[in-house]
Amino acid sequence: KAEGRGAYCFFEAEMDARLQARRRMELDLRAAINAGTLEVHYQPLIEIGSGDVAGFEALVRWNHPERGNIPPIDFIPLAEETGLVVPLGVHVLTRACRDAAAWPGDTKVAVNLSTLQFRSGNLFEVVSDALNETGLEPKRLELEITESVLLEKSENVLATLHALRALGVRISMDDFGTGYSSLSYLRSFPFDKIKIDRSFVQGLGTNSDSQAIVRAIITLGRSLGITITAEGVETAADLEYLRSEGCHQGQGWLFAKAQPNEAASELLRENRRRPKPPAKSAA
Ligand code: C2E
Ligand code: MG
Ligand code: MG
Ligand code: MG
Repeated sequence: KAEGRGAYCFFEAEMDARLQARRRMELDLRAAINAGTLEVHYQPLIEIGSGDVAGFEALVRWNHPERGNIPPIDFIPLAEETGLVVPLGVHVLTRACRDAAAWPGDTKVAVNLSTLQFRSGNLFEVVSDALNETGLEPKRLELEITESVLLEKSENVLATLHALRALGVRISMDDFGTGYSSLSYLRSFPFDKIKIDRSFVQGLGTNSDSQAIVRAIITLGRSLGITITAEGVETAADLEYLRSEGCHQGQGWLFAKAQPNEAASELLRENRRRPKPPAKSAA
């Protein structure tokens, strides 16, 4: 009995420590958001046919004063549970629009949105304010949503998406293929872009099942007139397969990791300076 009691106390103490660590993390995250110290890094979206940088995806980065870099996978879920993802989202969106407004040409910026931002009720205002404040043209902003947003099944979500699109903003379906009914969501809203989830892209050079799935998604996108971007392109063989199937864009470590705005802007300048390969005749 004494042992049982001991185990119980141990369990309780562990639970307590976990709750405290979580509470600490929440406070730290709130402080970082309020202080504006969360950073935004940019990963290029590459036009597969030409090698041009079409745009960048904005990815939030948290450099914790004591714990160093904490990856989004370790704090976005907490931000969702606590509602902090709403002010976090405003910060990332505004920063991304401001940085992108200084990029040359019509280089796009893609920003991830969470379900909670739709529930907050003022997402349309938040986006149009960010565009107005920074002077970024709406057509240069892409908003990435996952299936979970459409799972809300609320009129409000679709109305907001339609209003944003009417403003000229583009809407992308992120992590395509990982949810339960990705296909049916394609019918519920006219997406401008589909991002094939990394899990189907990795090992594409050798895995014939992945090849079949990716080929089908590319064909689907082409016949619906939707831009297809492959996430997580890591090897030349992955890229070669995507190129041979006519995938429009690629994103992944083969091209570049997410990096601070200065480095991303430099990469963009280099990309625009490089000599253009002669247009290939139909082969
Ligand atoms: P996501 O939107 O699907 O973003 C792509 C993720 O894949 C990024 O991870 C990126 O760094 C990673 N990635 C890109 N290329 C490769 C590759 O070749 N190999 C591998 N292994 N990974 C690659 P990251 O930055 O850790 O972000 C993870 C997720 O966190 C994002 O997935 C997105 O869902 C979420 N997230 C990031 N920033 C934000 C944000 O500002 N707001 C919201 N709501 N979510 C965000
Ligand atoms: Mg994304
Ligand atoms: Mg994604
Ligand atoms: Mg993903």
